[in-house]
Amino acid sequence: MTVPADNRPLVAPIYQSAKFTFDSVEETERQLHGDREGFWYSRKTNPTLRQLELTLAVLQGREDCLLTASGAAAVNLSMLALCRQGDHVIFFAEMYKPTQHLIRRVLGRYGVRHTLLSIDDVDGIERTLANTSTRLVVFESPSNPVLKVADISRITELAKKHGALTMLDNTLAGVHNHGQFDVDVFVHSLTKYVSGHGDVLGGAVIADRKIIDSLRADMAVFGASLDAHAAFLMQRGLKTYFLRYERQCQSAMDVADYLDSRPEVSSLRYPGLKSHPGHDLACAQQKDFGSMIALDLRGGPEAARVFTESLSLFSISASLGSTESLVLAPQLLQPRDFDAQQLAWSEINDSTVRLSVGVEDVQDLIADVEQALAAAGAHTS
Ligand SMILES: *Cc1c(COP(=O)(O)O)cnc(C)c1O
Repeated sequence: MTVPADNRPLVAPIYQSAKFTFDSVEETERQLHGDREGFWYSRKTNPTLRQLELTLAVLQGREDCLLTASGAAAVNLSMLALCRQGDHVIFFAEMYKPTQHLIRRVLGRYGVRHTLLSIDDVDGIERTLANTSTRLVVFESPSNPVLKVADISRITELAKKHGALTMLDNTLAGVHNHGQFDVDVFVHSLTKYVSGHGDVLGGAVIADRKIIDSLRADMAVFGASLDAHAAFLMQRGLKTYFLRYERQCQSAMDVADYLDSRPEVSSLRYPGLKSHPGHDLACAQQKDFGSMIALDLRGGPEAARVFTESLSLFSISASLGSTESLVLAPQLLQPRDFDAQQLAWSEINDSTVRLSVGVEDVQDLIADVEQALAAAGAHTS
């Protein structure tokens, strides 16, 4: 049953169909060879996925997009598709841990070489690019959890000069940020701000058509496709993306201002604060400062644990960017396989707590932080 052409559903329906059909072999072949519009098999794409791909591409300011079953799949599979044996990749200690595992352990097994640097070390990036022919510079901004801000125009300029591609995992900044920079490939975990409700996993690779076309054949056989129902939920999440993001940023700024006034906090990192080392760069690069805050508690590890467990509106949980506020304690943030140098770059210590601010009433959130700080204050180690 089709609806008349002049009578559309206001909300696009879910194409919950793995397969599509034509009336003739000839038209099927034409579609498969790219000589006509249409769909064949949802592992490659389908109308629900395609709608989301095109929306995300517009938001990020690029021509095209490929969806994946998770953010990790977007990072991993695009790197697998872009790299070959013997290629060299530059990445950073301040990055998402599974991405580091992928580069060090998995791609390493297939002969992809790497150099690990600190995102603050722009001279190191330049030196490495000059000394080692490099396929890809993979980075994030702001970083997680301490929100270091990468100098994106400098990094992309250096990479271009030395013939390397740049891949920016833009999950923390969101799909509306950083499109003005000469980044070749954006990857996102849609699980975070795009879905926004913590109920569905997904990822996206966003780039100009030439790059997406070159990835498409490989991505289709990797098979980590987004499900149509998940794509529908993403599309629904996108409708409130800006409402949520603006509210979360404003609340994060207010919570950060409050924490800034508190003696129990020995170090505070939110890019919206003037005291943040990346504040000027964040002002120049980003439309807003995000919803993540990192703080160190003067009372040490025990105070950090009590603070984390005393919060009632912030749940102890992974992930970020959802309607609910979340918290992670130092034990849950510290990388296990870093040497002393890498640990110093990460700037995570045994009293660092990460907050992800949701859309709850901000006065309630501040009152919650206040009572948790009071509880932690009694536990100074
Ligand atoms: C969460 C996250 C990912 C992985 O995304 P999933 O959807 O959980 O697979 C990748 N990069 C960053 C920066 C993330 O925060």
